[in-house]
Amino acid sequence: MLKVNEIFYSIQGESSYAGLPCVFIRLTYCNLRCTYCDTEYAFYEGEDLSIDEIISEIKKYKCNIVEVTGGEPLMQKESFELLKRLCDQSFDVLLETSGSISIEEVDKRVKIIMDLKTPSSGMMEKNLLTNLNFLKSSDEIKFVIADRDDYDWSKQIIQKFYLAERCSILMGCVFGNLQPVELANWILQDQLNVRFQLQLHKYIWDPVKRGV
Ligand code: SF4
Repeated sequence: MLKVNEIFYSIQGESSYAGLPCVFIRLTYCNLRCTYCDTEYAFYEGEDLSIDEIISEIKKYKCNIVEVTGGEPLMQKESFELLKRLCDQSFDVLLETSGSISIEEVDKRVKIIMDLKTPSSGMMEKNLLTNLNFLKSSDEIKFVIADRDDYDWSKQIIQKFYLAERCSILMGCVFGNLQPVELANWILQDQLNVRFQLQLHKYIWDPVKRGV
């Protein structure tokens, strides 16, 4: 059984899949407490569902893209089996993870979207850098930027660990803290080889609305 906070159908907003319809499975619990967290309701709330029940729920949607998110989905050991079972069913499976728990055992068919927590998150020391060894070229690393310090730190980390040569890099703003135009200008000024992104769902719907 897994504790599931919500299952919903929406527009993927934070990866190279941005803009595509996607079924989201939001699992309960998180081991981090980022300053800008917008899903605190996923820390404890949820209902126990078996993997079969989860799969039968997502099959109600005519959608082949499924994202497992949280909270921190890898906090529940059964999430590794869920990811495998979703791949076995031929879903295009995305995993959004904070990067603080080992991804070594994640099924290799899964596209991993992994955060590297920036200084303003307050959780930078939780970055498990050994995870960089397990990323595939098809995976993505995401930096969430609140200010210039976060941006400069991210730029340094990208260079230090040759991240652009390992996989795709995503950079987005903390909604309401940094104007997208500022981040876009910094990226262009530095000619950074990263994908700028917006949290699309926050522009389409009310930014505090759940289940979108
Ligand atoms: S890792 Fe994600 S869910 Fe957990 S506290 Fe940070 S932003 Fe919130």
